Amino acid sequence: MRIRHSYFDEEEQNIQEYCYDYPDDRELLEIFPEGKEIINQKLKENDDSRLKRLSALADDNPHLLKWEKAVIRAKAVPIQDIVKLKRLRRTARGYEACCPLHDDKSPSLIIYSDNHFRCFSCQKFGDSIDLYKLLFKVDMKTAVNSLNGGMNEKN
Ligand SMILES: [Zn+2]
Repeated sequence: MRIRHSYFDEEEQNIQEYCYDYPDDRELLEIFPEGKEIINQKLKENDDSRLKRLSALADDNPHLLKWEKAVIRAKAVPIQDIVKLKRLRRTARGYEACCPLHDDKSPSLIIYSDNHFRCFSCQKFGDSIDLYKLLFKVDMKTAVNSLNGGMNEKN
């Protein structure tokens, strides 16, 4: 999408124009597929016509459908399989272990049976994608792709 911008040039005393390329909504969603999740979140917060248009666009985009499936698969990777956890032990609620996000002396990390975690020491919480992002300091796209490829064997 070509964006045309005009402004008044004080020195030249006339109107100047410049153009630049900007991705359209469809291209934006392909560049930034995790936008889909953010759009839905934002739609809950406020009713915005552009967001609605983006959401509809995202719904019939095959790239995004693939992305959503990848997110579901990534979230299904057991948290205890993402990284070798110290003092991992089964409990009534799921698992507990030392938190891999900091130097944890006693097990502060709880892994619930719905595959979410919470650390009672550093207060971090989330699903397997969140843990992967925090552990390896990567963005959502990298985390989802990594969790989808070759996470079968335990580290
Ligand atoms: Zn922690």
